[in-house]
Amino acid sequence: MILKGFEDLKEFLNRPKNIVIVGHRNPDGDAIGSTLALKLYLDKKGHSCTVVVPNDYPDFLNWLPSSDTAYRFDLQNSQSQKAIGKSDIIFLLDFNALHRVGSDMQNTLEKYPNEFVLIDHHQQPDDFKYMYSDIEICSTCQMVYQFIEMNNDLNLVDADIATCLYTGIMTDTGSFRFRSTTSKTHRIIADLIDKGAENDRIHNNVYDENSYNKLLLLGQALSNLQILPNYRTAYITLTNDEKKRFDFQKGDTEGVVNYALSLKGIIFAAIFIEDSDQNLIKISFRSKGSFSVNKFARNHFEGGGHDNAAGGKSDLEMAKTITKFTSLLPEYQSELINSYEV
Ligand code: 5GP
Ligand code: MN
Repeated sequence: MILKGFEDLKEFLNRPKNIVIVGHRNPDGDAIGSTLALKLYLDKKGHSCTVVVPNDYPDFLNWLPSSDTAYRFDLQNSQSQKAIGKSDIIFLLDFNALHRVGSDMQNTLEKYPNEFVLIDHHQQPDDFKYMYSDIEICSTCQMVYQFIEMNNDLNLVDADIATCLYTGIMTDTGSFRFRSTTSKTHRIIADLIDKGAENDRIHNNVYDENSYNKLLLLGQALSNLQILPNYRTAYITLTNDEKKRFDFQKGDTEGVVNYALSLKGIIFAAIFIEDSDQNLIKISFRSKGSFSVNKFARNHFEGGGHDNAAGGKSDLEMAKTITKFTSLLPEYQSELINSYEV
């Protein structure tokens, strides 16, 4: 755990400030939940906060309290630049390095003359003046709760803030089932429910608003599933044509990789998704036990993340990407076979 400069930060935030709060590119439930929750909290403390996210986020998050106030850097560029330009400080939430916001926004942030505050749970964080980094914590939303707790301000957590925090903890823990979910996580969740988070409504809004096409795309993904039992590995591919056929919308493939990981005996799963906008293949890796997909993604696919959940990318076409992936497996065979999960 790294906690750096927070006494000074507290002092700095004693007077009202203009604050920008940033989440990573392709923001997920934890990025959106944590940025909005922090905004709502700091606004209550008398600051003036603007959330800026690099690009679009899935529809299943657009019901979150005050999500309509967040700027998209790609579409609302001048408003975003203006907010950044007049801000006294920028919070970076749910990512460990500036490149995770994408190159356009990274260029802007690299020229930023004031300080950054990092609150994040990913491995190998870059160095900033103010940092709260803890890779043991399941979600940035839990860290925002603990940040509010450190300031003795839990009484300021209202139903809207509780709803945002609950959502990010729920999505980053696979609904409270990953190993990162601790008794403390459950205690925090209990408090958030007491403060007005409606667990059934949140779950329904995030997971039970599927379109018919989304389910058909899932069907396609599952029929593309390949299993490599010698490496306890399974992977899924999705091409642009397949995505188009089922009217792919942002967020439609979220969680699909977990079906590959759910197979008996499988401890390493990947999904390879063609992304025509960026002209690359976006990859999600998941594992069980000691096999680190963070290292695997970092070493071979320009990515990273956590030990059991990471992402990366490939500039090669699909067939070549798969060949690269499968030909890497032999060097990991003993690690894969010995990962303790059965
Ligand atoms: P997902 O597979 O859901 O996109 O990402 C899984 C985890 O890995 C998330 O915590 C995410 O922030 C991280 N991650 C995804 N893609 C990348 C990447 O390209 N680089 C790094 N460093 N982390 C990533
Ligand atoms: Mn997260």
